[in-house]
Amino acid sequence: MTFSELGLREEVLQSINDLGFEAPTPIQQSAIPHLLKSDSDLVGLAQTGTGKTAAFGLPLVNNIQDQYDLTQGLVICPTRELCLQISKDLENYAKYDRKTAVVAVYGGTDIRRQITQIKQGATIIVATPGRLVDLIQRRAVKLQDVRFVVLDEADEMLNMGFKEDIDSILDQTPDEKNVWLFSATMPKEVADIAKNYMTNPLEVSIGHKNQGNVNIEHIYYTVREKDRYAALKRLIDVNPEIFGLVFCRTRHETQHVAENLSKDGYNAEPLHGDLSQAQRDNVMKRFRERTVQLLVATDVAARGIDVDNITHVINYQLPDDIENYTHRSGRTARAGKKGESLVLINLKEHYKIKAIERQMRTNFTLGVVPSANEICAIQLASLINKVKDTEVKEKDIEEFLPKIMSDFEHLSKEEVIKKFISVEFNRFVEYYSKAQDLNVSESRDRRDRGERSERGDRDRDRERGGERRERFDRDDSNRTRFFVSIGKRDGLNPGGLLRLICDEAGLTSSSVGKIDVMPSFSFFEADNSHTEAILKAVNGANYEGNRVSVEITKKKAERRSGGGDRDRGFSGSRDRNDRGGERRGGSGFGDRNRDGGGFGSRNGGDRDRERGGSSRPRSRNSYGRNN
Ligand code: AMP
Repeated sequence: MTFSELGLREEVLQSINDLGFEAPTPIQQSAIPHLLKSDSDLVGLAQTGTGKTAAFGLPLVNNIQDQYDLTQGLVICPTRELCLQISKDLENYAKYDRKTAVVAVYGGTDIRRQITQIKQGATIIVATPGRLVDLIQRRAVKLQDVRFVVLDEADEMLNMGFKEDIDSILDQTPDEKNVWLFSATMPKEVADIAKNYMTNPLEVSIGHKNQGNVNIEHIYYTVREKDRYAALKRLIDVNPEIFGLVFCRTRHETQHVAENLSKDGYNAEPLHGDLSQAQRDNVMKRFRERTVQLLVATDVAARGIDVDNITHVINYQLPDDIENYTHRSGRTARAGKKGESLVLINLKEHYKIKAIERQMRTNFTLGVVPSANEICAIQLASLINKVKDTEVKEKDIEEFLPKIMSDFEHLSKEEVIKKFISVEFNRFVEYYSKAQDLNVSESRDRRDRGERSERGDRDRDRERGGERRERFDRDDSNRTRFFVSIGKRDGLNPGGLLRLICDEAGLTSSSVGKIDVMPSFSFFEADNSHTEAILKAVNGANYEGNRVSVEITKKKAERRSGGGDRDRGFSGSRDRNDRGGERRGGSGFGDRNRDGGGFGSRNGGDRDRERGGSSRPRSRNSYGRNN
């Protein structure tokens, strides 16, 4: 099927052509012809990666009547980032519709600028629910001509506590409007929207292409670049039964890592394009037979490897192309088994993890590179089990036994055991005797290097609190508790705080745990893997004119033994003067989006480059940032 068969206008077809879309995706094929009809309510069960934005965006742009500059379409979505992404997509689709004006409005930024933009004409408004309600109340957004309301990621909006806002918007729009709802899942609350606001909606359900295998656990480890190889060895050593694939980016690196591993006593072989076909076949045969325990490979050479029971995929370096990460990790956890995909990154590569999380809709756990003690204990246990499980071939050993017995005659049973175990174990004990902690966090790295933050007193204060944070870096519980410098008196409620965190740090609501909003400050919990993103992104954010500062709290036990109460403990570091401080306004978000558009926002950066006429081929899956 081609786009021209779907019934879209010539101008829209031209813009599709410019975007390089050759054929409609399945959801576009099912949805677009329906959405071009006059009664076109729709429920689409689809996730990011299926082409759903174009599935509603193309017909929306197609249906907008250019002669009116009144608001005819509303697209409501959960986060600022998605809001910006959708509006950019819609602008692309409306490239040849001169009068179609798309305006994006979202919370946490200067509302006056948005009001001005809307006044200048907005045929389509793309909005987060809270901000849209605010703009409706201020009469900046007029709803009487709205004919299309799109609810994107409806389940996520309801998770984030936007139900009331959505109901209020839908209630105020004209009865004869069409509602197009997209959701990854269909809980009752989402089904209720369909029931209450739609008539005979078409239901379209599309499995999404990026869905990761739920049996794969994704874990990343942050180390200094110089420690990458040492960390790799620890990840192998802490998994004595590993049957794994180690991925490198280049042939040279693959060869180098495999050679070093062999030299260091590991059962590892390389697999890359510089080897002859016969060599590659031989390595693969031995890997399949499990005579080779670790296969170190490039993405290209490993393509098509269909070996079952691979326990671990280790990303020595992440691939340049996110799609390749999906392929790599998919080598483990086959046929319903569980598997781990481990990733080594340096301090500058966190954005890559975020990009993969978004694209694959999966969560990474922040792992701790195991300590020497941990590894030695695990190796020892494994050795003991191996000895216990070893079958004694009585017949074969029989003739050698008298000599063996006489050689050990002078040793006690304990001494013999110790010596036998030490044959293998000494290698680890010696290697790890001077081993250091290889884990590194940004804050710790800065302290280690004696660098001062350039961001002024607030950061210096936080650095002074480093001791406290370092203890948390080592905490093995899954969640971190944060202190936030604003509370009820600043107009904050739990939903608002959740949205702020998710919007700023690019998280989904499931990453955030308990939220306590107190009169003048708040607390929330989040998965440890997001700590850095939260500290970086939420700190300094603007909430309704208040500058927000976020800190990791002390653990309860530490608070108790430290003798300080919770409120007192944080009041010192909370700078109320921040509230009167400069407003970041809209530029903060805009700037950040421009910088990070590529990785966070699904190819936004790439598309910008395309519009600028760059002849660089467009990579749909790169992280969108030079590294
Ligand atoms: P979405 O599901 O809307 O997040 O889209 C995922 C990606 O697919 C985006 O980068 C779109 O630009 C791209 N895309 C959407 N429709 C098509 C199509 N028909 N052909 C090729 N790429 C597409």
